[in-house]
Amino acid sequence: MLTNSPEQSEVVDRQIKRLSGLRFKWLAFPSDLERRFEKETAHRRSRRLWFEALLAILLFDFFLIADHYGPHEQFRRAFVIRLLIVTPICLLIHASLLRMPNRLWRESSLATGVCLAGLAQLYLELNRSRVASAYVQMTVLAVILFANIVMRLRLPYAIATSFVMLCGDAVFLWKDHMLKTEDKIFGVGMVVGATALTLVANYNACREERLSYLLHLRGELLVADLNRLNAQLLRKSESDALTGLANRRSFDTQYAELWRAALTTAGPLSVVIVDVDYFKRLNDRYGHLYGDEVLKRIASLLQQALRVKDDYAARFGGEEFIILLPRTPESAAIQVAERLRKMVELAGFPAIDPAQGPYDLSIRATVSCGVACAYPTVRDTPEQLLEAADKALYQAKAEGRNRVCCAPGNEAADLTRPI
Ligand code: GH3
Ligand code: MG
Ligand code: MG
Repeated sequence: MLTNSPEQSEVVDRQIKRLSGLRFKWLAFPSDLERRFEKETAHRRSRRLWFEALLAILLFDFFLIADHYGPHEQFRRAFVIRLLIVTPICLLIHASLLRMPNRLWRESSLATGVCLAGLAQLYLELNRSRVASAYVQMTVLAVILFANIVMRLRLPYAIATSFVMLCGDAVFLWKDHMLKTEDKIFGVGMVVGATALTLVANYNACREERLSYLLHLRGELLVADLNRLNAQLLRKSESDALTGLANRRSFDTQYAELWRAALTTAGPLSVVIVDVDYFKRLNDRYGHLYGDEVLKRIASLLQQALRVKDDYAARFGGEEFIILLPRTPESAAIQVAERLRKMVELAGFPAIDPAQGPYDLSIRATVSCGVACAYPTVRDTPEQLLEAADKALYQAKAEGRNRVCCAPGNEAADLTRPI
């Protein structure tokens, strides 16, 4: 199935170019696009054909009024053929249109119905009178006009319908004893010429229909492309290029949202600020690029340390990260921070290029974490919670690093008290 991808835009552009030319072109698209065209236009087409077919059946039976004024035997024959044979068959075909049949059934059954009605009319008018024989040429034309221009059957079916009706007309004129030869030649000439014109009109109409579909589809694909690019840009503008975590900007939005949610539900919101210990020293010893690798490793461990779907991690700046834990009380937040601290202690130090010299055992990648939790009320501000977590981090640093500390003092006590 054709999807909204850039390659498909190219296919559509090529088809627009192909069908826009002046020369005769096959109307069929490449198979994927053709399937999509059929799928997206079938419903509308079936509904339109349903109304037109109903009109045609009514018109066909309307001629019973004219038959009524003819000889009784003729009326009886017309009654049987029109109402008891052709109409039921056409009504069955007509009803099938409501079930959204596939293209083959839809077009071929309609072509069959049209031919059946047209040939039945020829049969009923055969050798009735000179006027009837002359009018029948009009009938053949009307049937072909209806199939090729009103219904706009797909070109191959329009050609087949025209061919069958022309053959029927030829047999009619051969069996007819009413018209003179020159009348018959005139009739045939008129019908064949007009049929050729209706087929050209049918081709042009089908081509226009396909072109307008392609132009519409191109618009849709362009919008889909733009949306995709927008989403990409948004993702890029919200993620940190080095670690792939959410960046500060995204954090601000997320934090405001989670704060609001916690305020509404009167639930807890925990924050963990994570800072790499002695990172400057590590950079100085192994180089900035290695420092970047350590940050990437810690970011990856950080994502692994989060177990709940709504937990959120971002790079807060430099060598600092931040974790938001919605609906999480202080004790659980401490567990998360402790889990991360241990993971970094064990695996936060990527292998060193031997060219960098031997390991300096005094330098390790560890992190300190400051934890704070709040049950926000309208009196609190989000900044208070961040300040509390920052203070806890400061305490962790002061107590010797590579540890987790919880928001100390009054602010934290205030913030962590349930309402
Ligand atoms: P402390 O334990 O007190 O946090 O000490 P520290 O050395 O980690 O803290 P300090 O603030 O003195 O140094 C942070 C260093 O982090 C300084 C800066 O060069 C480095 N840094 C910040 N961002 C990046 C980065 O993206 N990549 C690398 N490699 N280093 C960074
Ligand atoms: Mg720092
Ligand atoms: Mg640091």
